Amino acid sequence: VVRAIGVRKRFGTHEVLRGIDLTVRRGQVVVLLGASGAGKSTFLRCMNRLEVVDEGEIWVGDQPIGFRQRDGKLHALRESALAAQRAEIGMVFQRFNLFPHRTALENVIEGPMQVRGVPAKQARAQGIELLQRVGLADKLDQYPARLSGGQQQRVAIARALAMKPKVILFDEPTSALDPELVGEVLQVMTELAHEGMTMVVVTHEISFAREAADEVVFMDGGQIVEAGPPEQVIGNPRHARTRQFLARVL
Ligand code: ATP
Ligand code: MG
Repeated sequence: VVRAIGVRKRFGTHEVLRGIDLTVRRGQVVVLLGASGAGKSTFLRCMNRLEVVDEGEIWVGDQPIGFRQRDGKLHALRESALAAQRAEIGMVFQRFNLFPHRTALENVIEGPMQVRGVPAKQARAQGIELLQRVGLADKLDQYPARLSGGQQQRVAIARALAMKPKVILFDEPTSALDPELVGEVLQVMTELAHEGMTMVVVTHEISFAREAADEVVFMDGGQIVEAGPPEQVIGNPRHARTRQFLARVL
């Protein structure tokens, strides 16, 4: 579903991504690990073209993100076409970026109605179902300020799901939460993983990686150092840098 090929990204003279190759197959859960500054967020942002890569390509489904293929060539997309492409890629950030003046349900149905043109009644029914699925059936009409961080983050996940994306990208979805709220969000994510959602997750929650990841990717200095199933990368890492990192987070 997602394929990054030789992705490079510089900010000024600082090369933040130095040739990333990664394939995420349908239904796969890939966990990205790495120290601060490794380039994890930048890589996620390149996947939905919040950042534009300097070299390489990222494909989502059968389309290169930011481009259309014609005559065997890639043509850059205009903003409106890019928005349509982005609608296929869900994103959940560290800081819950819900609309503060909309209720939980209104936050969830906004995208389907505005971007996909789903009729209000249908969007509401679907939104209620999604909020039930993340355990918030009793919070439909609450405003974000009245919800805990964990509840807000679950609304954000329901909102991403409402667009029926091909993949959801998570950037440290639990790292801004009080410790006692982390579990409820990870549980929803683990359920999604088991239901076959395609996910790329940046997290330091090693227990989630062990339980839900098909593949764990360790990044350092803008490169992939090591990738493989969790038993290997977490259980028996080959590289000294991976071992050092794990010793710090475990
Ligand atoms: P963290 O775990 O702290 O979130 P990360 O692995 O997500 O780290 P990135 O946020 O991708 O790391 O940042 C990688 C490097 O790129 C850092 O050195 C950062 O300072 C730099 N960087 C990121 N965004 C920009 C930007 N917009 N302009 C300049 N430098 C940037
Ligand atoms: Mg980051």
